[in-house]
Amino acid sequence: MQADGFEDPHEDALKYMTRYALPYKYNPNDAQYGLSDDDYALYTRYYDSAAEVVALLQDQGAMTWTYGRNFGPHFDQVQIDYIEEYEENVPKTHHTLHPALEDGNPGGGGDMIGGCTAWAEANGIGVHVNHRVDQVILNSAGEVIGVEVVVTDPAAAAATPATDATAEASPVASTQTLSIRARKGVIFGTGGFSRNADMMRHLMPSPYYGGCGAPTNEGDLLRISAALGAKLGNLHNVWRNEGIFEQAVADTGAYNCAWFLSGDSFFIVNKHGKRFVNEKRNYQDRPMAHQDWDPNFGDGTSRLGFVIYDQRVQDSWGGAFPWLADPTTAPYIISGNTIEELAAAIEERVESLLDVTGNVHLHVDFAGNLAAEVEKFNEYARTGLDLDFSRGSLQYDLTIPFGPSNPDSP
Ligand SMILES: Cc1cc2nc3c(=O)[nH]c(=O)nc-3n(C[C@H](O)[C@H](O)[C@H](O)COP(=O)(O)OP(=O)(O)OC[C@H]3O[C@@H](n4cnc5c(N)ncnc54)[C@H](O)[C@@H]3O)c2cc1C
Repeated sequence: MQADGFEDPHEDALKYMTRYALPYKYNPNDAQYGLSDDDYALYTRYYDSAAEVVALLQDQGAMTWTYGRNFGPHFDQVQIDYIEEYEENVPKTHHTLHPALEDGNPGGGGDMIGGCTAWAEANGIGVHVNHRVDQVILNSAGEVIGVEVVVTDPAAAAATPATDATAEASPVASTQTLSIRARKGVIFGTGGFSRNADMMRHLMPSPYYGGCGAPTNEGDLLRISAALGAKLGNLHNVWRNEGIFEQAVADTGAYNCAWFLSGDSFFIVNKHGKRFVNEKRNYQDRPMAHQDWDPNFGDGTSRLGFVIYDQRVQDSWGGAFPWLADPTTAPYIISGNTIEELAAAIEERVESLLDVTGNVHLHVDFAGNLAAEVEKFNEYARTGLDLDFSRGSLQYDLTIPFGPSNPDSP
């Protein structure tokens, strides 16, 4: 951004981060925007160091950066931010960076890891996969001086090239547990705990059906650091995403996130058959709408959403998940020739899933409300105004989702 002459003022950036992350604390008139001293120091450090780290990786030759882009027909545009409409978001683009591919186009996470791995190998830093840190080792003064590592797959670990002195000295192939002394300190980067069902159920505010982080992210650091008496915090502020319910309950490991919902003639309803969200919002804000609560019935009304789409979406966007190229291959796709038929088929399916939904039944008004929503949605499509959720009124809604996968479709 700096090289391209884009200003990203400290005050606006911190206000944006505070308002988005902690809206209930945000106070634009406060010197620290409502943040505690600790949080203000943390956010400031992030702002101050992010550019340094990005520049360091590029200067060292581990990565060349490029801006993220919008998708489909908007791929020539620099990616727009989440919640771009906040006045505190200045500028509204150019914050998203990707590793650049050889052709200059943005790459993904694998390219980023590839660049770092190549740099590490070229500079004598060992990378040891299948080495799971089980605990830290303390000296008599209570200082961390190393880690105890369980080699989870000795054969694979032995095949991993050892490029640093510590690993050469370690009898990797002949033992299951290693003690590794730290030269200076121990830094963990062990991800979250989305693959630890027990922690997820006890630490998350909403139901857990699986996750799409690394399968080895089982929250080991929480266990290790809790044993050391470290202060834990912000565990609830999880990055949630929507997935296909029946796919997740069949196999949590197969959980597949639904990112950008492309297409136009579709919407999502709850068990009342009513829309509850702007379906075009980004994949981390949109799922928050599932966490509503109906105090009359003591349950989340929109815990489960039913995605209603038509043949046009199938023909034009089939193959852009969650739309499948061939919907007959997936048992979770429910079809009907009329709204009434579809509603009846959904009800039958929901009744067959009572054991895993927490006894969710469709409300008696589901079919009637669904028909009314279709009427209303069609009217909104004709006028171009979604009077319920303002879908399409925000720039993100229009530029991020993919264009039709079949360009010949109407
Ligand atoms: C499907 C998906 C798509 C995403 N897309 C984007 C995107 O487009 N842009 C973006 O900015 N972010 C994206 N994210 C988020 C981003 O990938 C994560 O925020 C980021 O990877 C977290 O990095 P991390 O190093 O903290 O943890 P991770 O990348 O999760 O790495 C943690 C590592 O620690 C290892 N580990 C766990 N326990 C131990 C142990 N005891 N001992 C040794 N190793 C251990 C794990 O095996 C894993 O390799 C995406 C995430 C997902 C799941």
